[in-house]
Formats: sequence, structure tokens, C-alpha cells
Amino acid sequence: MSTDSDNLKHDVRHLMLDLQQMKTFCEKPLIIREAEGIHLTDIDGMRYLDAVSGIYVASVGHGEPRVIEAVRKQYERVAFVAPLHGVSDTAVRYGKQLAEVTPDGMDTIKLLSGGSEATESALKFARQYHRQTGHPHKYKFIANYTAYHGGTLGAMSMSGLGGPRKSMYGPLLEGFIHLPPPKTFKPAGGEPWSDMRTADQLEYVIEQEGPESIAAYIIEPISNTGGIIVPSVEYFQRVRETCTKHNVLLIYDEIITGMGRVGDWFAAQAFGVAPDILCIGKGLSGGYAPLAAMVVRDELHYDAFWGELEDNIHFAHGHTYGANPIAAAAGLAVIDVIRDDDLIARGRDTGAHIRDRLTRDVAELGILGEVRGKGALSCVEFVRDMATKQPFPDEHRFGKRVESRLLDAGVITRCDPHWVAFAPPLITTTDQADQILDIFMQCL
Ligand code: PLP
Repeated sequence: MSTDSDNLKHDVRHLMLDLQQMKTFCEKPLIIREAEGIHLTDIDGMRYLDAVSGIYVASVGHGEPRVIEAVRKQYERVAFVAPLHGVSDTAVRYGKQLAEVTPDGMDTIKLLSGGSEATESALKFARQYHRQTGHPHKYKFIANYTAYHGGTLGAMSMSGLGGPRKSMYGPLLEGFIHLPPPKTFKPAGGEPWSDMRTADQLEYVIEQEGPESIAAYIIEPISNTGGIIVPSVEYFQRVRETCTKHNVLLIYDEIITGMGRVGDWFAAQAFGVAPDILCIGKGLSGGYAPLAAMVVRDELHYDAFWGELEDNIHFAHGHTYGANPIAAAAGLAVIDVIRDDDLIARGRDTGAHIRDRLTRDVAELGILGEVRGKGALSCVEFVRDMATKQPFPDEHRFGKRVESRLLDAGVITRCDPHWVAFAPPLITTTDQADQILDIFMQCL
């Protein structure tokens, strides 16, 4: 007789999951029934430690009663208001609260439902801004190689990563230029990479292309797909100066780094350099509802988009689920929980502990390339030989093999062939981090 678990494992083939080879996934599907704190439980009762907050989302942990209660109450009042007609009181309250934690002078917010909507919105906003301020030819975007900015075509065109995730969908949009990322890890025999070289190249490319053609430079302040690369403060300062000098908007994609993940509310504050446009998502709602936002420097909005009806200069862009009351209720409660429980400081402490242990333990195995990170976002890069920094051959898929052992041992994280990320919920204690790392070291 087949059980409910057997049926679910059979029926999962109706779905197409993100970047999954579904035939392989269906042979051993991960189907979660419930979650609490930093644990997830699958339909067979196996418990997993969530070492990467879902995927940088579950900032306040799973099953947080204060967020659930806020969302429940919101359902009882109003679940949907069409942004074409108006807005809920909850979304207005949320906008005000969010503006309190965004960088100074960035208090104008477009609420959306997903990270790709935020980066697409930034793309369109930047182009419309320049058109409406007398620079109609500023349409090009500069971004970094290896960065990921989302799955829709505009966001993909901005993204700098290679592989089928991008190459399968060409031709992409015209007018997107990429720079080498500010990579700091120096592989064997490789050229020394430096973030200041990327900053130099930004200026060079803007000058060569013609500043009158460049709309914006978009970066992930700490790139995840690039391998949790943490640039220097000087890089951000130089980039800021260059963008300001050439009237190029600086966009931070903080979809991963935002909402307390990197030791402050946003990387903009953690590095002390603010952008013109901020794209945020993931941890914004902690996973309790689809929620993202584009936040802009107020003067951009008031200078170019604020006018009378007949001026027709409004931001001509929107999505049906934008400013959704349920998502706003979740977002409001998440801000309260982060503040009330001092989660940014807790995430910083646990993150520092994780990096210390990784540095010590992985070096003992003789395969430590580098430990990187900031706040509650960390990563360890492996090498085959610590003296020469010779990496493991790509075809070994070292990190990917670690990932599948970790899953069997009850830890979910994000692994690349050469590195593994650790970004558990901000509520994670050092004891829980140790549990994750003990299992990780056994699998390694
Ligand atoms: N930008 C970054 C840095 C991301 O990591 C992601 C998603 O992983 C996105 C944008 C796209 O967000 P979403 O998947 O919510 O559309």
C-alpha cells in the first residue's frame, strides 16, 4: 500500500524546480513538510540544519510566531489591494519602517515580489530617469562578470555569470558591458586580482564607451555567485566617485546582502558607501511571503518623476502583487524581530565564529584556500595544495560532492565546485553553528 510520502515523491514530477534536472531530482526528491528555527523536516521525518537560510532568505528563522501572527492578522483584514488603484495601510506603514533602516536619503521605495523584479525595475528606472533629466542616450549598463542579478531577460543581461543559465537564452539585450569582478582570491599561478583594478576599469570603460551612453553600474556588494567576494572600502569609494563624476547611477543588488546579513542593515552601511538605487529581496520577508523592493535616492524620484498628472512623468512600471498587504505585514514584523532580538549583532558574532572555525579546521585538513565573508555571510574556498594554492580540478566537483554528503548527513547549504557558503538564519547560536560545522568537517 502506498503511503502519502510515496505519493508525494511520485507527484513531484508535475513541478519544474529551479535549475533542477527534474529526472534526477525525482529519483531522490527533497520534500519538506515543516520547519522551525534553523531546522527543516522532510516528509519522511528526516531533520536538516538550514545552513544557508533557505537560500539567504530565512533571516529570522522558520516558524517565527511574531511574523506568523502579523501575517495571520493581516489576512483577516485585507489580503490584496491592487497597486493600480491604491495601497493598504500596512504597506504604507511598512514603507515608513523600511525607510528608517535604508541608507540616509534613500526613503523612496517600490515594493515588489521578487529579486528579479527589483533588478528589472532598477534597469527601467535608471533609463527613464536619464531620459527625463535630459540624457536620453544614457541606456547602457555596466556590471561585473560572475555576478547574478536575476532570471528575467533584463536581469540576465545584467548578470555576468556564464554557463547555460545565461548562454541558453541568447540573444540577450543589447547595451550590457561586463568588467572582471573585484576578486581577491589568488589561485595558483593566477594573476593577482585586485578590486582596485576593477575600479580602474570602470572609469576606463565609461570613458571609452562615452559617459553620455552609460546609465548605471550595478554590483552585488559581496557577490555570492562569484564566491562571497568581499571588496575593500576603497573599491566602493572609488566606484562611487567615478559614478558621480560621470552621472552614472550606482546600483547595489543587495538581494542577498541586505536586511542584516552582512553585519549592518545593508552593505551600503557596512561599507559606508551608499548607492543611488538599492535592490533588496530574500531576507526582507524572511521567507514568510514573496517580497522585494527597489529603493531609490529621494532626489532621483523628486527631480525626475514627481509631477502633475498631465506631466506624465511617473515611473511607468508595475506588477500586480507589488506592495501586497500580506508581504508588507511580514516585512514589518521581520524588521521588528531583527530589532527586538538584536539579530544583526547575533549574526555578526556567529558569522565571526564560523569563519574562525573554518580557518582552523579546514587548514588542519590541508585544503584551505581562503575563508571569506562579512557579518553572517561566510564561505570557505578549497585548494588541493595550500602551499601553491593549486585548486582541485573542476571535474572533481569537490564542493558539489561535499554538498551531497552534507544533504545525506542533514545539513543544507550552498556549494560551488570550489567553495561552500555558510549563511544560517541570524538567530543561529554558536552551539548550533558548531553542530553544522562538526557535520561539515566529517563530510569534508
Ligand atoms: N540578485 C541576486 C544577488 C540574487 O542572488 C538573486 C537570486 O538568487 C536575484 C538577484 C534574483 O532574485 P529572485 O530569485 O528573487 O528573482
